[in-house]
Amino acid sequence: MTCPHCNHSFPLTWGRYAQSPLSRHTCPSCHKLSKFKLTLAYCLLVVVSWVALFALIFGLTALLLPRGAQVLGLYYFLGLYLIGLVFLIPLNRFYDEKFRKLEKVDDAGAGDVP
Ligand SMILES: [Zn+2]
Repeated sequence: MTCPHCNHSFPLTWGRYAQSPLSRHTCPSCHKLSKFKLTLAYCLLVVVSWVALFALIFGLTALLLPRGAQVLGLYYFLGLYLIGLVFLIPLNRFYDEKFRKLEKVDDAGAGDVP
């Protein structure tokens, strides 16, 4: 990741990723706040990866279970969601670090409007 204030490059570590659920990061060099731009490509990636993963798991479930088995309960969907998180969080972090660009945020917190 490159700081938009001072052009300092720093890695998106797991710690940093976990501490910024809203994709806001503080530069370790100039200590100014920045955030990832929300792009259409990113939104599409998130939607497509969830849909693809769910389709894969639904497909496997249909193939592996005997016909008519009753599995579509609450725990099934909870498990599906957890499996999704396990696979998609690392993908999301990778995408954040490699492809998303940081943009400046003014410290007053009014930076959410593009
Ligand atoms: Zn900086």
